[in-house]
Amino acid sequence: MIRTIASGSLFLIAIFAALAASRPPSAASWRLTSESEALVPDAALRAQIFRALDAAEGAGTDPSISHFKVRAATVVTVSNEDHVVLGGNTEYEVPEAIHGESSLLNHVTALYGPDVTRRAVRFVVFFSQRCGVSGSCGDCRDFQHAVTDYSHLLIVCGQASDHTVRVTRFADQLVDEDKFAAATPDSLSITPGELARLTQSAAEARLGGVTLFTTARHTGAAGLSFSGKIYRAAGGDDAAFHYRFPIGGLLQQAATERDYFLRAIVVVGEKGQWPVINYRDRQYGYESSSFNHEAGKSPIALIITDGLGHYRATTFEAALPHAFSTANFMPQALKDFLNSHQSPTAK
Ligand SMILES: [Zn+2]
Repeated sequence: MIRTIASGSLFLIAIFAALAASRPPSAASWRLTSESEALVPDAALRAQIFRALDAAEGAGTDPSISHFKVRAATVVTVSNEDHVVLGGNTEYEVPEAIHGESSLLNHVTALYGPDVTRRAVRFVVFFSQRCGVSGSCGDCRDFQHAVTDYSHLLIVCGQASDHTVRVTRFADQLVDEDKFAAATPDSLSITPGELARLTQSAAEARLGGVTLFTTARHTGAAGLSFSGKIYRAAGGDDAAFHYRFPIGGLLQQAATERDYFLRAIVVVGEKGQWPVINYRDRQYGYESSSFNHEAGKSPIALIITDGLGHYRATTFEAALPHAFSTANFMPQALKDFLNSHQSPTAK
């Protein structure tokens, strides 16, 4: 940062040099916010967190599209010795990325094995210019949920400008399906008839898809747009392990028809079981629901059923707390996009 700013001005170089010389060792300068102190009572753990933040500042990244650097680190104790591990984001081609926190955890596994990732990763720190309230993307939530002791995992953001440190629980980014509120056909924002059509359509979708690896958890989803059309998709796996999620699939079909605003989505799993809604799929739904918000429409209702006439309902906003979307990063661009892509039949 200093190099970039100072390159245009010798005066600034002098000021930054003076500041750098007068600054105490940085590990001592990190300061937990008062709300964060209670989450990290242990002095040794605080020291590890501050050490990780110092290291994260130097984590390499390559965000060629967004130019948004995600610099992550942790400290793991292996055989009584502390080791700093780094992670950083890389973006490539169409907007695809290896994300900072997934990169970090994979790096821990590559160096020390999956048991250390599960047992010894107690926190993930991010070195950030400014700490906001957003959590991980849905996919990184799935990954952290799967490979760490997630119920005890702490998420740390160290703010570069003033070295304040905010700590939250990773568990605050999760909402299990059994926390979705119980619903009845006449308590929803769609009619009982529309619910019945969506449920049947999702169940039929689930008969298809590709399940060469997905022996459990296969789901089908159907969504109803404001224009009255139903779109549906089933999960699909492949040899490259680039799973295609059902909610993402139906939303892509709707977007292809320039039918950008959905009222409700129903997801079904195996008869008698509640479907699991991956956080990655919730991210697709959240993004689409942010289109509704932009257009002044109600959020998409996310409805799950056990196939036996029981329902639970929520919204993507509630099912993916502390989420982010293009509506946050580029509100005007999203507004212009939706205005210029209005389908003649979709309202
Ligand atoms: Zn991510």
